[in-house]
Amino acid sequence: METASVFDIYRGTTHDGPGLRSTVFFQSCPLSCRWCHNPEGITAAPGVWWEARSCIGCMLCQDACPVSANPAGETGIHIDRERCIRCGSCVDACPTGAMSFIAREWSLPALLDEVLRDQAFYQKTGGGVTASGGECMVQHAFVARFFQELKAQGVNTALDTSGFAAFSAFEEVLPYVDYVLYDLKLLDASAHRQFTGQDNSFILENARKIASAVKEERFRAELWIRTPLIPGATATAENLAAIGDFIAGQMEGQVRRWELCAFNNSCITKYQRLGLPWACQDVPLLRKEETEALRKAAVSGGVDNELVFVTGLLRE
Ligand code: SF4
Ligand code: SF4
Repeated sequence: METASVFDIYRGTTHDGPGLRSTVFFQSCPLSCRWCHNPEGITAAPGVWWEARSCIGCMLCQDACPVSANPAGETGIHIDRERCIRCGSCVDACPTGAMSFIAREWSLPALLDEVLRDQAFYQKTGGGVTASGGECMVQHAFVARFFQELKAQGVNTALDTSGFAAFSAFEEVLPYVDYVLYDLKLLDASAHRQFTGQDNSFILENARKIASAVKEERFRAELWIRTPLIPGATATAENLAAIGDFIAGQMEGQVRRWELCAFNNSCITKYQRLGLPWACQDVPLLRKEETEALRKAAVSGGVDNELVFVTGLLRE
């Protein structure tokens, strides 16, 4: 049976497309953005993680580990990911759920049942289901089947993607997509490599191809662009102006919305649970005047002012 590795499902979210939505976070991502808000979703082999607030310190997890991969340190239980064989014995032994698998496998019928629980809300609010990640296109064959079934049930679908996938994979999924939420993070190639670990030429090429395909009505999806505003990385006037130029000049007039998503550090506990440092730990929220200046730079290249929105938390 076809299955997908999924590390989270948010219900009732308003962030990933129109209306009230369920967002399904598919495991694995070819990028490693320095500001990543879902670090647990990057690796293809996620294993287990530990949550301090649920732990009662009984150490049953350590007793259960066959390879001594979960020693306790000053900051709590540390999973040695080189040593861990992802057997799950610590998860079974833990009485509180403090030790858990990061991701789990879902069959197509089970995942459909899960998200269709909220079908009435989708209908009432113009919402639906969003595939996110990680990079959901890593599991594109499953996503295509998932969306095909949702469309058959009258549920609208949104694809939240970094654009880093073969165009042939997009061609498989896009017939079943109502909204493409396409990330354009950095236009400068070397900055893109520096901050995400990958080249952006592939991403830009796919953006052009998807825009052309939408213009030619080969797909009926509505195209949204999303740019994370990360101080010290993406949140510069030069970068926003360059992305604006790209959208205005190379996306065939097909972009219906451009979201500038203000940085927040709400994911810090995820890094703590993984035992990883986070480069953005001390980065502050942006101020309204900063986002206004960035928005101004964004529209300087000719993108319609009405299409550009700042989203997310701001500093008082
Ligand atoms: S998953 Fe298995 S190997 Fe890994 S820490 Fe838990 S018990 Fe040890
Ligand atoms: S078994 Fe669970 S509660 Fe006990 S020490 Fe390990 S993680 Fe904490």
